[in-house]
Amino acid sequence: MKHVIIYRNNEINFSVKANHLAKRIILRISNDGEVNVTIPSKRFEREAIQLVQKKGAWILAHLNKINRETESKPKVVDEIQFLGNKYPVEVLGGSKRAKLKFKTNKFELYLGNHTYDDVRVELKKWYTTRAREVIPNLIENFGYSDRVKRIAIKGQKTCWGSCSTKNNLNFNWKLMMAPFEVVNYVVAHELTHLDHMDHSAQFWSAVQEKCPDYLRHRGWLKHHGRLLKF
Ligand SMILES: [Zn+2]
Repeated sequence: MKHVIIYRNNEINFSVKANHLAKRIILRISNDGEVNVTIPSKRFEREAIQLVQKKGAWILAHLNKINRETESKPKVVDEIQFLGNKYPVEVLGGSKRAKLKFKTNKFELYLGNHTYDDVRVELKKWYTTRAREVIPNLIENFGYSDRVKRIAIKGQKTCWGSCSTKNNLNFNWKLMMAPFEVVNYVVAHELTHLDHMDHSAQFWSAVQEKCPDYLRHRGWLKHHGRLLKF
């Protein structure tokens, strides 16, 4: 029989099963969070419900723990994209703080008992740090270092880069998941705005000078940009 009780504003769903081999009332929570009560016979149904009520705090604590464990499993981070390559992630324990390290051909993720959100924060930090290394290098390659006042790395929802009239450039850390040539194109695009504050024909031909294949990279962003997430 399925039952539900309310314990301190929380619903507890559970099922009660009669098993004549059971000598007493047994309360169990399965690994996937199902609460089951076994009773010796149907006559004990009421006691079963009373037991769940009595053990409410313990049941909720246990269910929360299961939820946390499920959440902390690195669902999406069994693979990390970096500059268009995908690297496997090895999950390791033994750290109080969620920590991410890049080792030549793989990532090491020290998870401890952290939730997926902690991992996400860590990954975002990692991408932001990479962007602060990669993007200034590209700007230097294009010979624009002296003209750029400030570079900010942000997590804009819809924009890959922007350029202000004060020569401040913003780039999205999510770009670090895209192929290198695509990042290079976005940088070329924003730098060209230092010369042309519009998307005129002159603007695009100046982009093409810096980045001959820009149409392909622009197309890539249009089609794959929304997949740059985790
Ligand atoms: Zn633009």
